[in-house]
Amino acid sequence: MTTLEIRDLRVTVEADDAPKEILRGVDLTIRSGETHAIMGPNGSGKSTLAYAVAGHPKYTVTGGQVLLDGEDVLAMGVDERAQAGLFLAMQYPVEVPGVTVSNFLRTAKTAVDGEAPKLRTWVKDVKGAMENLRMDASFAERNVNEGFSGGEKKRHEILQMELLQPKIAILDETDSGLDVDALKVVSEGVNRVKETTGLGVMLITHYTRILRYIQPDFVHVFVDGRVAESGGPDLADRLENEGYDRYLTAGV
Ligand code: ADP
Ligand code: MG
Ligand code: MG
Repeated sequence: MTTLEIRDLRVTVEADDAPKEILRGVDLTIRSGETHAIMGPNGSGKSTLAYAVAGHPKYTVTGGQVLLDGEDVLAMGVDERAQAGLFLAMQYPVEVPGVTVSNFLRTAKTAVDGEAPKLRTWVKDVKGAMENLRMDASFAERNVNEGFSGGEKKRHEILQMELLQPKIAILDETDSGLDVDALKVVSEGVNRVKETTGLGVMLITHYTRILRYIQPDFVHVFVDGRVAESGGPDLADRLENEGYDRYLTAGV
């Protein structure tokens, strides 16, 4: 049983002139097996939350805590966070020139586990995971994210997740740019990892569509750098009908 605890998290980002406060006291607790949907308007700070927990250097934590089973995540390097069981699928995955998917996955697995995977089982695992995600075997020999379509990028993220077996995954707009077929394959992948490993999921999304395929246990409305309201799956239905307007009346 793993618990990711985010307490009163405050984060600034380096803007052109001065640091800008983006996260203004985020509280959130995610346990193994739970799926938390984080929903909110564009610019509310959802990606900032993901990057800050992952340790992206552009984001400065100015207050609060992030604990994984009581361990101070913010004191860990990026690699150590992955080794501790955190996984981040980014909204804008970067290209890794000259590195094939196959080599990338093996390097990542070795880094996370602290030892190289046994070759024979590894090849079988990769093949199986790729088949599950309906990916052609030739995909493994392509360079990471180079010329990937939106759907290929997302499948590649879920492929990493299946193979790295994290404890907690943060999926940032995994649904964006996917047609319904790709969305189903990607969602099945997330659900499969949840079922087989008890993964806890922070599912960041602007739209309710993906929640038809990945059932959230909790829904959090994220507005202006903090959680404005939390509830069950029915909260997503209300957002679908009403949008975020009621949370924005204070104006900016
Ligand atoms: P969301 O994911 O909810 O759309 P973001 O976390 O991407 O929101 O952005 C929140 C706010 O922080 C926005 O106003 C955005 O312009 C700003 N911001 C985020 N990242 C950066 C960055 N690297 N440099 C400058 N501003 C940023
Ligand atoms: Mg955005
Ligand atoms: Mg975002």
